[in-house]
Amino acid sequence: MNTEYTIDMLIQKILTDDKQYDLSKIITAYEFAAKAHEGQKRSSGQPYIIHPLAVAYILLELGMDTDTICAAMLHDVVEDTPVTLEEVKKRFGQDVAMLVDGVTKLNQVPMFNKEEQQAENVRKMMLAMSQDIRVIIIKLADRLHNMRTLEFRPGVKQRNTAHETMNIYAPIAHRLGMRGIKEELEDLSFHYLDPFAYSEIEHILEIKKSEREAFITRIKETISERFKDQDFTAPPQIEGRVKSIYSIYKKMFVHHKSIEEIYDKYAVRIIVSTVGECYNVLGLVHDMFRPIPNRFKDYISTPKANMYQSLHTTVLGKEGIPFEIQIRTWEMHATAEYGIAAHWKYKQGISRNDSKMEQRLAWIRQVIEAQQTSDDVEEIVRIIKTDLAPEDIVVMTPKGDSVSLPIDSTVIDYAYKIHTQIGHKTVAAKVDGKMVPLDYKLQTGQICEIITSSEPDKGPNRAWLSIAKTNEAKSKIRSWFKKECREENIQTGKAELEREFKHFRIRVPEEELEEFLADDLKRHNCNTLDDFYASIGYGGTMLSKILPRLKDKYVKLYQKEEEPENNAVIKPVRKQSSIILDKIDDCTVKFAQCCNPLPGDEIVGFITRGHGISVHTTGCTNYLAALRRNNEEELARWMDVQWTDKEQTSMQTSIEVIALDRVGLVYDITAILTEARIPILHSSSRNLKNGNALFEATITIAGTEQLKNLFDKLRRVKDVVSVERAKV
Ligand code: MN
Repeated sequence: MNTEYTIDMLIQKILTDDKQYDLSKIITAYEFAAKAHEGQKRSSGQPYIIHPLAVAYILLELGMDTDTICAAMLHDVVEDTPVTLEEVKKRFGQDVAMLVDGVTKLNQVPMFNKEEQQAENVRKMMLAMSQDIRVIIIKLADRLHNMRTLEFRPGVKQRNTAHETMNIYAPIAHRLGMRGIKEELEDLSFHYLDPFAYSEIEHILEIKKSEREAFITRIKETISERFKDQDFTAPPQIEGRVKSIYSIYKKMFVHHKSIEEIYDKYAVRIIVSTVGECYNVLGLVHDMFRPIPNRFKDYISTPKANMYQSLHTTVLGKEGIPFEIQIRTWEMHATAEYGIAAHWKYKQGISRNDSKMEQRLAWIRQVIEAQQTSDDVEEIVRIIKTDLAPEDIVVMTPKGDSVSLPIDSTVIDYAYKIHTQIGHKTVAAKVDGKMVPLDYKLQTGQICEIITSSEPDKGPNRAWLSIAKTNEAKSKIRSWFKKECREENIQTGKAELEREFKHFRIRVPEEELEEFLADDLKRHNCNTLDDFYASIGYGGTMLSKILPRLKDKYVKLYQKEEEPENNAVIKPVRKQSSIILDKIDDCTVKFAQCCNPLPGDEIVGFITRGHGISVHTTGCTNYLAALRRNNEEELARWMDVQWTDKEQTSMQTSIEVIALDRVGLVYDITAILTEARIPILHSSSRNLKNGNALFEATITIAGTEQLKNLFDKLRRVKDVVSVERAKV
């Protein structure tokens, strides 16, 4: 897709637009840019000016204002031509100059693959965004055109750019609510990242294209026929579309659905004038088509975190083909399609009290703030990606306010989201009236009440850092520790480092320690060893992240002089005394997925190459197979391991309950889990073909004893047929 954009196209578009533009300023900016870029070429061989023109055109389609269009036209002049920012400012004013400067600064961050540099880039982007959100909107348009013309770039460049677009730009577009831009960025990136899957889906969609179009047309006709005798403020608009290639890919490959199982690959959208009409239309379509159970979502009463609102329902057409219907008002439609850009498209300029704009900006500020309490750049990238994750849950306060949080958020995240002080003072929580542990994962629709301590000095617990899911909560917990107790942090951090060093068998003489850690001190903005300890202590520095690297460094610098370390761990241990697992989060010990051992099970360890020890049950098929093979070299890698006596460990396991399907079944099962104070990490239930129901849950359990008790209780639940540990 490489349209040859011209200034005439742009002028034509401006003249036919409802919005007022300063046409002569835009033409001047074009002439200025065309002259500055004279003689320069794009990789496609076309004159360079095509690119700024295209970017300006994309922004015009989004409905952005005159200054943004001018800045788009000029966005590469300061970077790629002798023109200075001063000149831009003199000719086009402070605003345009500031926008050009913002975009230029973003561009100066080099292309990369490394997460660390990515963090730097994102940090700068967030800062630029917080100064003027239009900077990132220009950058998104710039990236969109570069993606559209990526075929002219060398292969390595294609992959890197596509990767970065998929990881950073598409999520930002999503978070800003710009659906069109987000989907195009995703589809284009996906095309370069997985060309085979892309063309496969494209092909599938192509085969039945006319059939599908006819299907959607029929549905649209049926609906509008039914609407004829209804009273609407204005005639509803009915649109039909097929979802984007990448969203179909995600459903097929990530959620393992076949193309036939993707209910919403066809979507019909109905746009009406008022919220009341939305619900009327919902009633009408449910009357016309059979709704598929559990597929109705009301994003009007509980909007998504990016402010998306609509009613979604999936229904069965006459041909037995399911399709999704989205119902929304025109205003919701503008928000859904243009997101933050709707602001410029539908209003003149920025009105300060616009609450949606404020909410979007609040998110950006929040990310920047959070970055200031974490010194670990890789952590920042991870955090931003989590915050950008498209899936959200909506939880209610006892007063009925809705709070949206990323999926998997715990009670702690919720408490901090409500208020920092509530977070700090949390002692317990109730979900739907029942007490839950603090690491309880909240789900959409639940009502959560936080019980706080009345002690004025009550603060968070360090363990909360691993319970919290959101950046916001973690950052607030860290900053409490950072502020409240430096001495204690130094102590904790030092002890933690010593413990990990011992564990990794790193023995650096005390006087050489600062030198040994010099790079890490710098990396985490620490001036002294104490600063570094403190940073570990409050959780700003994650030891688990840096230890493997430190171990390598240690081996390089010190290991040669010492005895080869191998003997210490890797021995034909079957003949030797057993090791004792005293810490389940021990980084060198992993629990095998194949048999998922629990404390209390008889276990055996396998020494992997470079990934520590993986622990299996003695009944595990993999272990038994190894015994049968009876290969000496292989057997030498199996070792005896044992659990500690202490019952302080807890582990995850999955259970399956099969029962005759009846009303209240899931409730009865969960009640038993809750009573036993067993946290449920995830649960689902479905009907089996034979009429039975299957309930699956991933739970945290202290040991086989507790599991056995639980199973006894579950087996006594009415209509339960069997209770078992899930086979993975
Ligand atoms: Mn550019």
